[in-house]
Amino acid sequence: MNKIPFEVADQPHTEPNVVAFTYNAPPSRVLFGVNALDRLTEEMTRLGVRRALVVCTAQRRTEGEAIVSRLGRTAAGLFAGALMHVPIEVAREAGSYARRIDADCVVAIGGGSTIGLGKAIALESESSVLAIPTTYAGSEMTPIYGITESGIKRTGTDPRVLPKSVIYDPSLTLTLPVAISITSGINALAHAAEGLYSRDSNPITMLMAEEGIRALVDSLPIIYRDAGNIAARTQALYGAWLCGTVLGLVGMSLHHKLCHTLGGSFGLSHAETHTVVLPHALAYNYRQALPAMRRMSRVMHGEEPPSFLHRFATANGAPTSLRQLGLQEADIGRAADIALANPYWSPRPLEHAAIVRLLHRAFEGLPPKIDC
Ligand code: NAD
Repeated sequence: MNKIPFEVADQPHTEPNVVAFTYNAPPSRVLFGVNALDRLTEEMTRLGVRRALVVCTAQRRTEGEAIVSRLGRTAAGLFAGALMHVPIEVAREAGSYARRIDADCVVAIGGGSTIGLGKAIALESESSVLAIPTTYAGSEMTPIYGITESGIKRTGTDPRVLPKSVIYDPSLTLTLPVAISITSGINALAHAAEGLYSRDSNPITMLMAEEGIRALVDSLPIIYRDAGNIAARTQALYGAWLCGTVLGLVGMSLHHKLCHTLGGSFGLSHAETHTVVLPHALAYNYRQALPAMRRMSRVMHGEEPPSFLHRFATANGAPTSLRQLGLQEADIGRAADIALANPYWSPRPLEHAAIVRLLHRAFEGLPPKIDC
């Protein structure tokens, strides 16, 4: 176990950017708690909408139908065809269905893929989005959308796609398989981890990030042992909300760039990729982001975040190697080229050879190496 080094643990508790900052919270309303879904119709009335299109994945059709019956006459239709990364054909089909039924609201129940489809529909119409997240991905708290056309995922930011209301009901996450729960939780944690060293972070986003990481670090091991533990499910969803909020408020860095590259250009699964890459991305930025590392270590039992997260994934049955996720070793160089072609800001400047070394370690499932 690597304890955080003395010079990091001993830093003062305030960071320089406490002095002056901009905090720009987007307008979204959150209903949180077990059985919060009971307030759905009341929330629709508050939003002033009349005709809702309910969207979900094919696998979650039963949950979509349950929403339709809760909504009664306010439900104008169900589209149970959401797919990972929002293919443009699906977005067009769902969008034309929404127009045909004259929907003024999209109710998206599911993970990031379903909420992503809700956003794509809102982008092309005047519809409001009401999101009911059932994973920990965090898309519901961001104005970021993504649509995939001919294998290329185009992302953008538009305030119209931000859900106006979000209902977090932990009882809806009880069915989320344990393996997805762990990787989805680490996906959420990654937003907060990078949020802590973001160029535009501020004291408020830092509070949310640290508390979000704490909630996930404490709850995911309980969910791993006992998937039906509603107290742990509640903590995890609370953490995911905070981490998703951070994602919506500040810019991300190397870790998210690498994951978007590996997911977008090599088809690797979203949450699992985040789980494998995060310890390595943090190790890469470790020395240039010591205040962030110190904050994380406070909620990681005083350990160094990179090695803690590598062990955390292993201990909770999550993957630790990109080989396991289907990456080919021969693709590592090209992945580094793509990630560096249009990089995000990073505390440590991006060096091609070091990124290749990082990806090799992640490929082999080796422990993260600071200054790799
Ligand atoms: P997902 O939405 O694809 O869901 C994974 C699987 O879990 C699906 O088969 C789904 O039907 C199933 N599922 C969801 N909830 C369930 C439940 N409660 N019980 C049982 N099964 C359930 O995966 P995800 O990781 O939530 O989202 C990934 C996508 O979201 C990616 O495309 C990613 O780019 C996007 N994303 C976008 C943002 C943003 O801000 N725009 C943020 C995070 C993620």
